[in-house]
Amino acid sequence: MRIFYFLTFIIVQALVFNQKAISRNIPEIIEVGIFSGENIKRFSFTPATGRYLICNTQHEKLLEVKPLNTIVFEITAQGFDIYRNDSLLFSENEITLQGAAFHNSFFLKPLDKNLNMRAYDGDLRIRNGNAAFSLVNIVPFESYVAGTVQWESGFNRHNVFYQVQAIIIRTYALQNLNRHSEEGFHLCDRVHCQAYYGKTNDVNIISAVDISRGEVVTDVHGRLLNTVYHANCGGQTVNSEDLWTHALSYLRSDKDTFCRHMPGASWEARIPVQDFRQFLHRNYSIKPSDQEWKHITGFRQNSRKHHLDEEESIRLRHVREHFALRSTYFSIEEQNDTLLLSGKGYGHGVGLCQEGAMQRALHGHSREKILQFYYKGAMIRFLEPEIIF
Ligand SMILES: [Zn+2]
Ligand SMILES: [Zn+2]
Repeated sequence: MRIFYFLTFIIVQALVFNQKAISRNIPEIIEVGIFSGENIKRFSFTPATGRYLICNTQHEKLLEVKPLNTIVFEITAQGFDIYRNDSLLFSENEITLQGAAFHNSFFLKPLDKNLNMRAYDGDLRIRNGNAAFSLVNIVPFESYVAGTVQWESGFNRHNVFYQVQAIIIRTYALQNLNRHSEEGFHLCDRVHCQAYYGKTNDVNIISAVDISRGEVVTDVHGRLLNTVYHANCGGQTVNSEDLWTHALSYLRSDKDTFCRHMPGASWEARIPVQDFRQFLHRNYSIKPSDQEWKHITGFRQNSRKHHLDEEESIRLRHVREHFALRSTYFSIEEQNDTLLLSGKGYGHGVGLCQEGAMQRALHGHSREKILQFYYKGAMIRFLEPEIIF
């Protein structure tokens, strides 16, 4: 039985990794779709450092924009208009704002939406994409990693934790570079890929990214791991096949004692009994008998389960999604006409538990030790930067 299980692993792994390059170089730049899904029709662009050239698709320079000079873009039926001080400069349907100094960064502020201004390094490609702007930040790869470390893990963390985050964010980005190729960029800036709402100025994060520059996590054969992560596992991580379909040898369920007293460790939710009965009826055609209802209201998870019922038809993942719960790791208690759910953890539970990793870093664990706990058999490997001739 064990041998069969082991062989299944190998076969699944072979299928999963068949298409993956064993190793690659770190690209110099990455193209990230920013403000994805926000449908922006009007925004302002202001250089923060350096200076920018507005170039059309023929690489002709239309205008130079100096620091703190603001230009405004507004979508039109065919393309978009570019304004400075309320006067129309050009009408185009695709341009790139190319940084022309040693270090170039800019501010972007949507004007038709109540969204905060964001700051980015690198260049900006602007297109009319179906009656709203398609905005692509062409950014140095490591600047993308640093920005993403900030948005995915917050401020004031241990430097070793930031190094761990940088390594797995870098690995994840390299693994998923083709995710948005049909839309003309590599990754989006949402949680769908990884949250990237601009550059970071945090010196602690920047130093961690610099210390770990070029480092990724691989298996013993040098193949990049799928470095998924989540906020808090609630004390036990999840096997990859319990959430998705593939069993990956490095994404194994394990008890994690380090995250248990962290902010994401526990939660409570209340669901009206009527809503829960309706959920069962609509999705599973179940009208629970007294006996079945007793099972549901007495449902407990000391260690993680995957189904609510003994017949294994109701997946906890479905319950979590339907009621927007923090995790699938909960127990149920009936209180009058309400179900009280007492839960542990925050997120899907597969791969690295961020709050556990933070605590491990504070306890002096090395990057290797932290990564190897959450990704079994993981190795840190240095990839050379891409050389362009
Ligand atoms: Zn995406
Ligand atoms: Zn944990």
